[in-house]
Amino acid sequence: GAKDAGRNTYRFFEDRMNAQAYQRLMLETALRRAIERNELALHYQPQMGMPEGHVVGCEALLRWTSRDLGEVPPHRFIPVAETSGLILPIGDWVLREACRQQRQWASEGRPDVRVAINISAIQFRHAGFETRLKDILDETGADPAQIELEITESALMQAGSDIVDRLWGLRDMGFTLALDDFGTGYSSLAYLKRFPIHRLKIDRSFVKDLPDDAEDRAIASATMSLARDLGMAVVAEGVETAAQRDFLVAGGCRILQGYFYGKPVPATVFTDTWLSAEVETTKST
Ligand code: C2E
Ligand code: MG
Ligand code: MG
Ligand code: MG
Repeated sequence: GAKDAGRNTYRFFEDRMNAQAYQRLMLETALRRAIERNELALHYQPQMGMPEGHVVGCEALLRWTSRDLGEVPPHRFIPVAETSGLILPIGDWVLREACRQQRQWASEGRPDVRVAINISAIQFRHAGFETRLKDILDETGADPAQIELEITESALMQAGSDIVDRLWGLRDMGFTLALDDFGTGYSSLAYLKRFPIHRLKIDRSFVKDLPDDAEDRAIASATMSLARDLGMAVVAEGVETAAQRDFLVAGGCRILQGYFYGKPVPATVFTDTWLSAEVETTKST
């Protein structure tokens, strides 16, 4: 009867909730051991300078291959890392590893390769963030001018009223600052001009349907002209076609990132694919 149906519906939701909670718990338990088990790795995706079209840097992207769960994509484990607080040790690991890699490329003859690192809102909000950065620079010998901190638009919006001072502090430490996922949050443009940010990263969702989609064309063009007026550079992510590239370059975008150029790859592959020929050229001249 109706009562049974109601109970079954309830049971259905309860089971589904349990399944979700269980999934989360499994992820969290496995993630808790990921660092000590050496299951984390950074992959690097090239960023190309326009119009010359050579590598100017890369974005470091976290990869997790769990002994128990196999390969888990960032969109599944980053949220769990954030709610469990594990993003703090994981974020430290990412910073240290990416800084170490920048230093290594510099010592191999490529001090010009900039490494962009994603910073979680939780990590950024944490009071010890600046101290951790300073320690990691000391520890690794990385050049902060070649380290780009990618902070999401929503992280900046959630930050406290000291946000502008903090951004100036990071800038004074020598870091390059990029606003990631630009256009997906709710930033007021008036607020934006107070942020001492070097770069805006146009989100992939606005690049995907360029140049055909009129709305995305308008958003991309507006972002590029806004950035120009505010003295910021624009990085476009998710570039997959020559037509997208042409549209963005015509609009003044100076740095492109996407599968059109290359997918994220392990450091050794990145070096072989993107840096080795040029290292040889530098050595022989
Ligand atoms: P994001 O920072 O916006 O990174 C760009 C994402 O777009 C990456 O996904 C990259 O692999 C993907 N991508 C780049 N070019 C293309 C393209 O041409 N086509 C398509 N379809 N995708 C492209 P990924 O590596 O899965 O990372 C997803 C998100 O996870 C990142 O978005 C970032 O928010 C987060 N994330 C990744 N690594 C870290 C990390 O070390 N720390 C933190 N806090 N978040 C991270
Ligand atoms: Mg990013
Ligand atoms: Mg992004
Ligand atoms: Mg994105």
